[in-house]
Amino acid sequence: MKTTPQPTAPLRIVIIGGGVAGALVAAQLLPLAPDGTIITVIERGSPIGRGVAYNTHSRSHLLNVPVERMGAHPDDPGHFLRWVRERLGRPGCPDAVSPGDFLPRHLYGEYIAYVLLEARQAASPAVAFAVRTGEAVDVAEREGADGARVVLADGTELAADRVVLAIGNLPGEYPVRSGRQVYRSRRYVHTPWAPDAVAGIGPDADVVIAGQGLTASDITLELVAQGHRGRIVCISRRGLRHKAHAPGPGHHDFLKDEPAPHTLLALLRRVRAEVRAAAARGIPWTDVVDALRPHSHRLWQALDWTERARFLRHLRPYWEIHRHRLAPQIDAQLSALAAQGRLEFIAARFIHVEETAGGLAVTIHRRRAPADETLFVAKFINCTGPRSDYSKYQHPLLINLLARGLIDHDPLALGAAALPTGQLLRHRNGPIPWLYTLGSPLKGVLWESTAVPEIRAQARVIARELLGPVTASPQDPS
Ligand SMILES: Cc1cc2nc3c(=O)[nH]c(=O)nc-3n(C[C@H](O)[C@H](O)[C@H](O)COP(=O)(O)OP(=O)(O)OC[C@H]3O[C@@H](n4cnc5c(N)ncnc54)[C@H](O)[C@@H]3O)c2cc1C
Repeated sequence: MKTTPQPTAPLRIVIIGGGVAGALVAAQLLPLAPDGTIITVIERGSPIGRGVAYNTHSRSHLLNVPVERMGAHPDDPGHFLRWVRERLGRPGCPDAVSPGDFLPRHLYGEYIAYVLLEARQAASPAVAFAVRTGEAVDVAEREGADGARVVLADGTELAADRVVLAIGNLPGEYPVRSGRQVYRSRRYVHTPWAPDAVAGIGPDADVVIAGQGLTASDITLELVAQGHRGRIVCISRRGLRHKAHAPGPGHHDFLKDEPAPHTLLALLRRVRAEVRAAAARGIPWTDVVDALRPHSHRLWQALDWTERARFLRHLRPYWEIHRHRLAPQIDAQLSALAAQGRLEFIAARFIHVEETAGGLAVTIHRRRAPADETLFVAKFINCTGPRSDYSKYQHPLLINLLARGLIDHDPLALGAAALPTGQLLRHRNGPIPWLYTLGSPLKGVLWESTAVPEIRAQARVIARELLGPVTASPQDPS
């Protein structure tokens, strides 16, 4: 295997992005880094380790993975559970915890900050670590292609021998093509993760949400928590709803000794057969889906790009609702709201939106309906999920990386062209020895690449690769 050449002088590593991914790369690097190493994390605003998912103070925002599986270290998934148990009853911590509990995301942000602190204490005093507040806007390759200059918006330049792009989730696409002037209105919320996303919405105001996923659930429950009584309408192409986690006995690793199918149809048939066989033994489908997780990268990589495109066209929405499930208490709250008629999931597409004297007129076309209909609401919140096509996101960092040929799309524009270890591929010209990424940008290469169980495994692989030869695969065993 080709390994990254190591510089002879002390290594300078710059990590762009201080969400969970950036924090975990730093936490993996610190205890291993040789004396003299300088590690800098550049983060535009959020406290280190929080990113978009864990920078929330809402108690209704829960993790969608049980506490027993959210540990920050790939070989110790139970670490978070033990950390919580040591703090029971303290402010922000529960009084009791069980392994299957879904805890507030805010607490998880605190945990990641603790993990980083622990790693700093384990590092040699001769290893320098700093978090720098700023916006990275450019990465310019050094002559000789053995490193780069990272440029910040204020003009500061940092020399780097290795750069990690831990830039995470890009803001979503604009959901309606007709009526784009509404995007300048205060009645439209483009970034649902912003702390003030539901601020100023009256208790009886009707709200339209574009999307029906986990972020739409967050927004709905936050509205309810602030006393909202109006109607909330979630609009998505198919009107599907995410399923809930259900405790089951667990299913055996049925794919362990099987080769991965090369077609989507063969894979679907195999999973369906297993769901039927498990059901006959009283094991729910949820356990079968969970048993796929350790194989998700292998399954994705066995499909060629045509088969992957087929998956996106036909199966993606169904995969999302079965795989990324809701905490049971969140599901129960949403079901109660739906039963009261306060929450609706509609299968429709947006036709037009415009601001009126008293609010917004949102025209939709319901699936199979004969005509359009118009909803009159006070607020429109975009929860369509992060975008992945870098060329459509007008951020100077991505514009510059694209222009310099340092980042390229995978063929389906799901993320960046990269090796499974996170090393980025130069536009039409092979791996870049000093540039890595992890998390969402690896979606095209690995598909499941956004949640902590994947990110912690990738962080370890990248840390080892940055510091020396690596042979491990980024797949998490849990
Ligand atoms: C609402 C929500 C809930 C989730 N819940 C869970 C869950 O319960 N369990 C789970 O496992 N996963 C969950 N996820 C998945 C989640 O994506 C990951 O767990 C994790 O947050 C991804 O971290 P990240 O660091 O890759 O990205 P992000 O969280 O997006 O962090 C990227 C960071 O980089 C910074 N940044 C980006 N560009 C620049 C730049 N140019 N200069 C400086 N800074 C920059 C941003 O400010 C940000 O802080 C959730 C995701 C969302 C959106």
